[in-house]
Parts: sequence; structure tokens; C-alpha cells
Amino acid sequence: MSQNILHEYDVVIVGAGPGGSGTALHLRDSGLKIALLDKQKFPRDKVCGDGVSGKSSTILKELGLFDELFKLPHGPGYGVWMSGPNGVDLIVDSRQEKPDAKPHGAVVRRIDFDNFLYQNAKKVEGLDAYEQMTVFDLIKENDNYVGVLAKDNSGNIHEFRAKIIVGADGAASVVANKAGVAFRDPDHYVSAVRAYYDGVEGMREVIEIHFVEEALPGYFWIFPLEGKKANVGIGMLDRDMRNKKVNLSQLMEKLINEHPKFKDRFKNAKRLTNIIGWTLPLGSKRRKPYFNGLLLVGDAAALIDPLTGEGIGNALLSSKLAAQTIKKAFELGDFSEKVLKMYDDLLKEKLDPELQTMYRIQRLGSIRWLLNHFFNRVNHKRELKELITSTIVSEDTLKYKKQLTDPIFLIKNLFL
Ligand SMILES: Cc1cc2nc3c(=O)[nH]c(=O)nc-3n(C[C@H](O)[C@H](O)[C@H](O)COP(=O)(O)OP(=O)(O)OC[C@H]3O[C@@H](n4cnc5c(N)ncnc54)[C@H](O)[C@@H]3O)c2cc1C
Repeated sequence: MSQNILHEYDVVIVGAGPGGSGTALHLRDSGLKIALLDKQKFPRDKVCGDGVSGKSSTILKELGLFDELFKLPHGPGYGVWMSGPNGVDLIVDSRQEKPDAKPHGAVVRRIDFDNFLYQNAKKVEGLDAYEQMTVFDLIKENDNYVGVLAKDNSGNIHEFRAKIIVGADGAASVVANKAGVAFRDPDHYVSAVRAYYDGVEGMREVIEIHFVEEALPGYFWIFPLEGKKANVGIGMLDRDMRNKKVNLSQLMEKLINEHPKFKDRFKNAKRLTNIIGWTLPLGSKRRKPYFNGLLLVGDAAALIDPLTGEGIGNALLSSKLAAQTIKKAFELGDFSEKVLKMYDDLLKEKLDPELQTMYRIQRLGSIRWLLNHFFNRVNHKRELKELITSTIVSEDTLKYKKQLTDPIFLIKNLFL
């Protein structure tokens, strides 16, 4: 009988996307022996809008990687262009107030962005990276997770043992599934498709989020890359997609070819790639992310912003909080739930208030007349427009997002 190939580490990270590479990068001064496993070979693509937001930028700055980001092929992000189901536009561009404003985010293809993070993670001392290593099971002994089983490209089985396993294997996480917490709730999952185009007219170096009637409370996006290239896509809550029997790829092509707002802008555009879909587990229904010897980060923990679909920033943030917890556990020599719960407490403090606020806004946004009314008012209500601007460009966006769900503020600005 063939033997499993045995590897022993302090920490095994499953998945080398932003959540996994981020965890490795945040452990770079820990002195721990780390294995970073991914089933794919880098550079690899990941279906995404490629929007690297202010939150991601903040963490990249902390890691000393922000300036490097702009050396990758990208479209600079100076703000956002939104439109309502009634077609009314709201454009927030930081250069309107400050002509020499620097971009606070960027649109970077994930094939480049993730490879950039991964190559930096590989430089972490004490880290071994294994590509084309597909994890298919967890090893559990006496109620503790103590390792993972993985298959390499030649069909060999590997056993990676560690004190702590980090599940960073994305929306279809095997680790979360084996830990028994991956349920697909149609009210808290979005499906989305995207393709790359060239020749898109009228882009303004701001990301575009268009709340088209057909996809509410989801949206159609155009995220500008270099020149006239763009990442274009559409996402919708699973429940609504099923109820309305929507085929997202067909809907996207229909909007591009027929919608009065977009058809001229795409008249000479060429689709460069197939339209591909993937799922987004929303943080409006988080899962338990800590167990004896195991943590979940990023999409594996269901941390995506329920309104914007942003998940890179939250994957990076969770990787930072997971790394803090891991360091503490090694300090104490205790890898049990009792200590690893610290990670969940940090998520509750640093992320849940924002996830809950964004969920409330998502629910409000599904009320069509209210959303239309909002777009009708916003350009005439200075206070409201300034607030929207602050939710996008300021450092402490949560403070402003919370205000957006404050009933008194809403009544004053929308109805008085
Ligand atoms: C269509 C779409 C548009 C989006 N747009 C945006 C956007 O514009 N901005 C934004 O911030 N977020 C966006 N998101 C969300 C964002 O893509 C995710 O939140 C983000 O990728 C999460 O990072 P992660 O590291 O948790 O997972 P991933 O990026 O999915 O990385 C998981 C890694 O694990 C590996 N892996 C998976 N299974 C295994 C296994 N069994 N064994 C070993 N390795 C494994 C994968 O190969 C992959 O490298 C979008 C998502 C979708 C679907």
C-alpha cells in the first residue's frame, strides 16, 4: 500500500489568494514554519471585478506593498459612478474637490494582483509554497484539527500536519465544507459573471456601479482598466436570480447591446474573454470561523460586503486578524477554540458593524422606488452627496456608512 508523504509545519495555509497569501505576509515576523498550499499554478486567474478598494489599499500600505501595486497593469481608481434604476447618475470623483488627488484604489486584474501577493508571500522566511496541491480533506484527532490531506499533480497523497490550519480556499472552500459550516443560503449568496472588454467609451477612471432594474439589489459594473479596456460584469442575489429565472450572461449581453445607457458606449467594444461566473458568500450571514486548530479567512469564512460585493479587502483584513490570533496561540502554546475564539472576537469588533450596515443598505436598495428617489435627490442635497463621497473616499468609511442607515438622516435628506 502506498504511503502518504508526510510534512510537518507550525501553520498550514490552504489557498494562496488574498486571504492565504495575506495570512502568510502578516506572519512574516513570526518565525513560524509555514506551508502555503494552492491547487493552482501561479499566475492564475480568479473571476472578480478586480476592484482593489481603499480598504485593501490601507492593508497593502501596512504591508509596504501599496506603491508596488501601481507598477502592475491597472486602471487608477479616483471614485465611483453610480446610477439608479431610473438612469440618474451620481459621480463621486476625488479630483473634483482636489485636482491633484491621488488614486485611493485601483482596478488590477486578479491574475496580476494575486500573483503579486503570492510572490511576496513566498519571500516570507520559514515558508514553503506548494502549487498544484489540492486539499481534499481535514485530519481530525480527538476533536482537534491537526492537518490536511492533499493530492499533487502526479496523484501522490500528502499529509500536511500543523498546530493551526488556515482555510483560505475561497468561496467553494473544502476546508469550511469539511468543518461543517459551508451552507449556501440563497438570501446571502450572490452569483456574478464577468468578462474583459476593449473599446469601451466614456470611462472616467472611476469604478461604475449601475443599479439596473433587472438586477436589483445587485448591479451591472464597468471597472476601467488601462485605456479603453474594462472588467465588465453583473451580480445578483441567488434568491432573486432564481425567482426571476435570470440567466446572468444573457442579461449582461442584453444590457451591453440594448440598454440606452450602455449600448453606445459598447458600440465598438470587443469582448476579449468568455463570460465566466462565480459565487460570492456574503458576510450578511457569517459562519463560525474558528475551531480547535483551525481558522477560516476570506471567502472561506463568508466575509464579502453584502452591498458592494467587495471581498479582497475583507480577505486581507481577516488575514491580518487571523495572523494576530495565530501569534497569540503560539505564545500561549494553546491552539484550542478557547484561544482561537479571539479571531472571531476581532472580526466582531472590526468587521461585523460594517457588514451589518452594508446589509441594511442592501435591503433598503432593493426597494425600487426608494432607490430611485435617492438618486433623484442626491445631486440636489449637498449633505447627502458629501456623505456618499465620504463613504467612498474617507479613511473611516464606516462612520459615514452608518449615518446612511440612520432613519432621521434619511427622512431629513430624502423627504424634507
Ligand atoms: C464576479 C465577482 C466579482 C467580484 N468583484 C470584486 C471586486 O471588484 N473587488 C473585491 O474586493 N472583491 C470582489 N469579489 C470578491 C473577491 O473575488 C473575493 O472575495 C476574494 O477573491 C476572496 O479572496 P480569498 O483569498 O478568500 O479567496 P480566493 O481569491 O478565491 O482564493 C482562494 C485560493 O484557494 C485555492 N484553492 C481553492 N480550493 C483549494 C483546495 N481544495 N486546495 C488548495 N487550494 C485551493 C484557489 O486556487 C485560490 O487560489 C468578486 C467576486 C466575484 C465572484
